[in-house]
Amino acid sequence: MRHLWLVVVAGLMLGACSSSTGTTERERVIDMVVRLNEYWAEAAEEFSFDYQPIAHDRVTAPGPDARCDGEEIAAGDVEGNAVVITGCAEGLLIVYDSEYLTTSEVRLQAVLTHEWGHIVQAQAAEIDAAEFGLPIDAELQADCFSGAWWADESFESVAAARSDVANAGDSYDVPVDDAEAHGTPEERVAAFDLGFAEGPGACISDQLIDVLPDEG
Ligand SMILES: [Zn+2]
Repeated sequence: MRHLWLVVVAGLMLGACSSSTGTTERERVIDMVVRLNEYWAEAAEEFSFDYQPIAHDRVTAPGPDARCDGEEIAAGDVEGNAVVITGCAEGLLIVYDSEYLTTSEVRLQAVLTHEWGHIVQAQAAEIDAAEFGLPIDAELQADCFSGAWWADESFESVAAARSDVANAGDSYDVPVDDAEAHGTPEERVAAFDLGFAEGPGACISDQLIDVLPDEG
């Protein structure tokens, strides 16, 4: 069976600035899953799709729980990254590199909010920017959804989030139609800022098209 892998925030590691909230890494991930499920249950009403909450045990680091159709996802497949895997009999699966994800609280939020953009695209294919464009368009739409979350939920750390998104941008020699393209730092920040300024509805509007790169 063929599965669609949506590769997320590939890129550079920011300097370490660890959280000292006193909670475990896993608790921090679960807390974000709860927040994202709540956020998207509400935002989905605007898009008229039936958001299906993601169980926190389907958001996991590699290991026995990271299974799609019974097959374990290898740690090497998510190194320095996170992925959403659709089409699994067990349901959507999000697998993350724990070390990468938990570099900082902002990193954890930036990665998971972007991942949730792909979850929304998977659950509501009619709004997936890749349906009318290129893979890079879906990536930038996910950045836009991430920015929308930030405006509502974590306004005070938006500058750090923007830096993290920019640092994970592509180098300038990546072709716009590359299947792995995520956007240059400027493109990614423009998409993020659109969602931040205008909310999730902008990410499925002509306003998003305005920030997408020309297909060349
Ligand atoms: Zn992505």
